[in-house]
Amino acid sequence: MNLRLQDIIDLDELQELMRFFYEAAGISVGVMDANQNWLVTIGWQRICRDFHRVNPESRKNCLLSESRIQEYLDSKEYLTYPCPNGLIEVAIPILLNDVPLGFFFLGQFLHHPPDQDYFRRQAIAYGFDMEEYMQALEKVPVVSQKRIAYLMKFFVRFFDLLTRIGSENQQRRQAELETQKAKEQLETRVEERTRELNRALIEVGDLAAQLNESLQQVEQLAVTDSLTETYNRRKFDETIIQEHHRANQEKTPFSLIMLDIDHFKKVNDQFGHSVGDLVLKQLSQLIRGLIRQGDLLIRWGGEEFLILLPTTQIEEAGPFAERIRLEVEQEQFVDAGSITISLGVAQLRKGDSTDTLLKRVDNALYQAKREGRNRVVLCSEV
Ligand code: GH3
Ligand code: MG
Ligand code: MG
Repeated sequence: MNLRLQDIIDLDELQELMRFFYEAAGISVGVMDANQNWLVTIGWQRICRDFHRVNPESRKNCLLSESRIQEYLDSKEYLTYPCPNGLIEVAIPILLNDVPLGFFFLGQFLHHPPDQDYFRRQAIAYGFDMEEYMQALEKVPVVSQKRIAYLMKFFVRFFDLLTRIGSENQQRRQAELETQKAKEQLETRVEERTRELNRALIEVGDLAAQLNESLQQVEQLAVTDSLTETYNRRKFDETIIQEHHRANQEKTPFSLIMLDIDHFKKVNDQFGHSVGDLVLKQLSQLIRGLIRQGDLLIRWGGEEFLILLPTTQIEEAGPFAERIRLEVEQEQFVDAGSITISLGVAQLRKGDSTDTLLKRVDNALYQAKREGRNRVVLCSEV
């Protein structure tokens, strides 16, 4: 990067410092940048400001001096040159790593008391007011060559120090800026990533919820009879184990009701198989409306159903079976009219396995059929 003098030096501060110098030494000071713009000018002499720089001819001499300075910018030595208007100026380049950033000058002074005749001739040549001009000349400081040499030694070191510190500060500020920029970029990226991750997490969550729902549907389908939408034997197999366990723990038995449509074959024969299907559906719906929450209606096979009644004794299960029988008897089935069912009821007893319990409830149903159908038989050996 091409640094300018004003990038590394605080001009207000420099201006102030130079003003202090001028107040103490009484010698005009100036600082110019590499493009020949004056950055600091302090204590310009009246003779320059109001006379030499005003007349177009003598002004040319001033500008000539300034342009000559450029030629010596890369020289480390300070340059002394008499300005064509009769004053003396000295200049040094202001360098950073041997690259000129501008120059410093002390000027508008004399080494020896002025040659009055020379300046009078000059006043006549450029048409200056003689009295005013000679008064301005009196103000021009006389500074020995030795003093100037010391001052310039001082300023060479002073600017060397100033540009070095200034450029180090500038580099540090630049590094800080870059670090800050990198930090902000990193933070932005982290925020973006976090947002992406959150979006992905939400999507994964949604997918998981959908999957879970689908799984539940599949599980439900696996234990549901497709025609009647009651549970199937698989659900019974799962549940009966839990019920055995609970009965053992809580010392309360459960009961089973097994029911079968009477003369169902005739329904099919008379009205057709699809009407038979409708009867099965309507019957399931009717019984589902009668059982309690927690009771389980299972299609055991064909037109045979099982009702599992948890924590229920036969004294309660019997009348319930009778109620179902009565409701069915009173129901009007679509296209088929009235039907009846036979029911067997049994309660879990000590030492019962699922098989022995099923056997007993099946026997009770069989007995109901034998005894004329449309009735409830309780398994007596409780
Ligand atoms: P019972 O009173 O002795 O039980 O006489 P039933 O005619 O009901 O007995 P059976 O076991 O001889 O006949 C049952 C009939 O149920 C035979 C079969 O066609 C019918 N069935 C079984 N499953 C279905 C089904 O899903 N839909 C229809 N429409 N009929 C079925
Ligand atoms: Mg039957
Ligand atoms: Mg049957």
